Amino acid sequence: MTLPPIPFIDLKAQQARIAVDLRARIDRVLAHCQFILGPEVAELEQALAAFCGAAHCVTISSGTDALQIAMMAEGIGRGDAVFLPAFTYTATAEVPLVLGATPVFVDVDPRTFQIDPAHLEARIAQVKAAGVLRPRMLVAVDLFGQPADWPALSAIAAQEGLFTLDDCAQSFGASQHGKRLGSQADATMASFFPSKSLGAYGDGGALFTQSAERADLYRSLRTHGEGTTRYEVLRTGMNGRMDTFQAAVLLSKLTVFEAELALRERIAATYDRRIGNAVVTPARVPDSTSAWAVYSILTRDAGARDALQAALKAEGVPSAIYYPRPLHLQPAYRAHHDGTALPVSENLAERIMALPIHPDLSDADLDRICEAVVQNA
Ligand SMILES: *Cc1c(COP(=O)(O)O)cnc(C)c1O
Repeated sequence: MTLPPIPFIDLKAQQARIAVDLRARIDRVLAHCQFILGPEVAELEQALAAFCGAAHCVTISSGTDALQIAMMAEGIGRGDAVFLPAFTYTATAEVPLVLGATPVFVDVDPRTFQIDPAHLEARIAQVKAAGVLRPRMLVAVDLFGQPADWPALSAIAAQEGLFTLDDCAQSFGASQHGKRLGSQADATMASFFPSKSLGAYGDGGALFTQSAERADLYRSLRTHGEGTTRYEVLRTGMNGRMDTFQAAVLLSKLTVFEAELALRERIAATYDRRIGNAVVTPARVPDSTSAWAVYSILTRDAGARDALQAALKAEGVPSAIYYPRPLHLQPAYRAHHDGTALPVSENLAERIMALPIHPDLSDADLDRICEAVVQNA
């Protein structure tokens, strides 16, 4: 007897859990009709800032737009070097290029998958020695739910005079040294794309900062660079607001978010215990908790990964590959890379594979996934 396929993520089950609260909040938006910057937007900004312990939150239309606004606020442009990991989602590298700046790809740690501070130092030294680009910004990604090594990264950035931007798109809700991500860097970006740890029903994002002036600048930039009145244009901005419906959805999801983080943690611990002898399970970043947006395992080599993925699929167990190609090898970015070897990122791209991890994964399905991995790895 073949069982029905397990979904990789189950947003319908989650919606059923919050249905009553969600409907009430959406009905309120339909009643007041303030679809842009309605009261839910300010309410969400306060709730998100309180949740992660940041002084200011400015919601944005998407995570990518949040990255762009944060870089525009620092005047990032032609001739600027923006250091970022090669092993991440494309948005991290695309934004500096859109602004005319140059991404400088940094390799990652082979066990935690996070940007490697020692390699960052080497890359900064390389850029300084070449004398072509100005080192301006570090965009460190908290990959898959875990925090990057912020103590080490902040120390390097302070020494080199780099602005630190935390790409927390995958890890909102995670913590380091007992403090949630949101104030470890000069600015922190979150994404509420539906499949992230906290997901909207469409695109959404946010910026967090400890600086009131910077928060004002982000607010101006997200509304066409407006000043104190709507038709005073102080700077070149963009249309980067989160719409009111998405804020209402996120307020509802926030009511169950802590409980969901605990459920994700429990699934990760079960995977560690059950499949840790069959495949390489993800190493934990020290003194940190994870939001477990992604649970990625490593196989021996590319052949073993393809075989395991095919065997799981035949048994109705889905998997995904984040990321099959590191950014410095992407057709669009190759020409912007200086040719430095990034062997860890290249190796991970061949061996990595993600298993389902979402709060509505049942114990029966979790058991089935573990069995399938152990039998086929
Ligand atoms: C999802 C993601 C983004 C982009 O967020 P969007 O809201 O989809 O624009 C940026 N960086 C990383 C690491 C991501 O995973």
